[in-house]
Amino acid sequence: MKNTFMTLGIDRKLVGILNENGIVEPTSIQLQTIPLLLEGRDVIAQAQTGTGKTLAFVLPIMERIDTTKDFVQALIITPTRELALQITQEAKKLAPAKDMNILAAYGGQDVEKQIHKLKGDIHMVIGTPGRLLDHLRRGTIDFRQLKILVLDEADQMLHMGFLQEVKEIIEQTSKERQTMCFSATIPEEIQSIAAKHMKKPARIRVHSKNI
Ligand code: ADP
Ligand code: MG
Repeated sequence: MKNTFMTLGIDRKLVGILNENGIVEPTSIQLQTIPLLLEGRDVIAQAQTGTGKTLAFVLPIMERIDTTKDFVQALIITPTRELALQITQEAKKLAPAKDMNILAAYGGQDVEKQIHKLKGDIHMVIGTPGRLLDHLRRGTIDFRQLKILVLDEADQMLHMGFLQEVKEIIEQTSKERQTMCFSATIPEEIQSIAAKHMKKPARIRVHSKNI
């Protein structure tokens, strides 16, 4: 039998929105990571650009956070505002299925507006390292009850010199969290972050460009 998002354990409402957007069959990285992530495992996933990594972490986040509780439960750290925006757009399409409130927090955007929204019932934050640290220093964001942390495009964060900032953010999140790392390559520095901050991570690697 062919795998669908439904057989992977994604609920009907989410699958409905995916299908409306022409997304029917899971890609290889989605097939391999989603079941582990739904179980709560930490995962290091390596796959090239364009293989569907965003949904591989967004769907399990949607399934695992409890939107009847109004605090930030998921954080996605991403290297650029363009990526933050893309992920936000993808997640916002799915958000109505779970009544989830999402905030993008990247530089160049009005910080006061972000602060105002953070006083509301935000469940998921997607941000770049500098702006996230800015909020942490101001005390306008709180990750102490975080359930899921995603490091997206981790190798780009390394190449852009953000690793120290990323480590500082991780230190301020709940130790109970599930941690996911998605990247096209896994350089040594990323492996050492994983060794320090992840719990027995499953290592998934998709070689082909075929999605
Ligand atoms: P990556 O993060 O691996 O570079 P993205 O998550 O940005 O890749 O996905 C690349 C494109 O593929 C996006 O336009 C996304 O909507 C699309 N996509 C993702 N998953 C699927 C799927 N299962 N079926 C069809 N298209 C998909
Ligand atoms: Mg990506």
